[in-house]
Amino acid sequence: MVYIILILLGVLNIVLFIRNRSFVVRIVELKNWVNKILSGSSLELPPDPHHDDLAELRQSFVTMYTRMEESRRDMEMNYQKLQLSSLTLEEKYAQAYTLQLIQEEIARELDSNQLMKKTLDILLGVFGSKWCTIYMVNEQKSVLELKANSGFAAAPVYDKIIPVDADHLVARACRERMVFTDADEAMAQGKTSGNIAIPLSGRHNCLGVMVMENELVRIINQDLIDFAKLIAQELSLSLENAYLYDKMRRMATHDALTGVYNRMYLMNYISELFASRPQIVSVIIFDLDHFKAINDRYGHLVGDMVLKETAQLASEMLPTGILARYGGEEFVVVLPEVSADEAFDFAEKLRYAVFEHPYQTDDGRWVVVTLSGGLAGYPESSDSFEGLLQKADEALYNAKNSGRNRICRAEKTAKG
Ligand code: GH3
Ligand code: MG
Ligand code: MG
Repeated sequence: MVYIILILLGVLNIVLFIRNRSFVVRIVELKNWVNKILSGSSLELPPDPHHDDLAELRQSFVTMYTRMEESRRDMEMNYQKLQLSSLTLEEKYAQAYTLQLIQEEIARELDSNQLMKKTLDILLGVFGSKWCTIYMVNEQKSVLELKANSGFAAAPVYDKIIPVDADHLVARACRERMVFTDADEAMAQGKTSGNIAIPLSGRHNCLGVMVMENELVRIINQDLIDFAKLIAQELSLSLENAYLYDKMRRMATHDALTGVYNRMYLMNYISELFASRPQIVSVIIFDLDHFKAINDRYGHLVGDMVLKETAQLASEMLPTGILARYGGEEFVVVLPEVSADEAFDFAEKLRYAVFEHPYQTDDGRWVVVTLSGGLAGYPESSDSFEGLLQKADEALYNAKNSGRNRICRAEKTAKG
């Protein structure tokens, strides 16, 4: 009996030993797995065939690890998203800053050429383009003219003039008032850069087109196009203002019919000229002869044409100084630093040129035009600009009274 008990105890001992040993092995396995996880490498825990507390503990560990791993992945993703949105934010901030810079730079600029140049310089910096150009629609709205360009690299050969109806990137952008790019075409031809044409839209029509070179490796994306459109909007607004200002300034100083300076400009010019103490100044006042008769015979429109062509002829012949419309069919020429003798030669040449000029009506009739002129010189005829104009006017009166189609000189005063 004792032997049996001893044998049983022995067997129990062996069983317990084997059981404990497998228990220890499982715990060591679990410990290794936890250590591996803690050291950062991932390791599959082999399945446990047992159904005891240790197996449950193992399963809890695995579940905990899986959850931790999931939340780590979530955190990583959120971090990446945060980084991306921070980059976008930085980009947007840079864009807003650039836009503000452009607004500050160009909003006060009223010279359209300076305006275009400044915008192009900023564009080069912002988009990293090698060059940018601006085309503007001409007054007749028939062609786009190259008005400004800027760049670091050797510029491609630009088309200086592009008809608005041409099958051309720039013309299409203008006609359809939409952004166009030749990126696909350029890529197909193996080029490394393409162009973006952005219309400059005015209140009523297309003012022109801004063209930017863009490297294709940097991909012409919608974000870039949207930003370029914003810049184009700013530029269009400022350009319209500048054009309006130019127009108003021109209207204030020029005669609407003939395009030469008006009386107000003449008076300012001559007073400033005398303030700068010139050595000599010659003044010619000329008046078309029997102009009323021309109006009466051919009509007012023909009279206008005669005034315009005479003003153009005189402008083209002008050696220096200015030509202004004094009123009606009377014009004044001011010639600083030109002697009365030289001025007389010029006046005679002009008188002859007008007489020779082929003025023609729309229905093919020729109009003979002559002029009379009065000439006075500073300082020999007068010591003030008012006096000089007065003397030239008196000389003109003499020319009219002595038969017209001639130039008379003012008498020299005792001082001269
Ligand atoms: P004179 O040889 O003495 O200078 O005679 P005139 O007929 O040229 O001079 P007058 O002063 O009698 O007539 C000037 C005319 O010029 C009268 C006016 O109707 C005309 N006139 C003035 N301004 C314009 C204009 O802008 N267009 C046209 N078509 N005619 C004008
Ligand atoms: Mg007249
Ligand atoms: Mg007159």
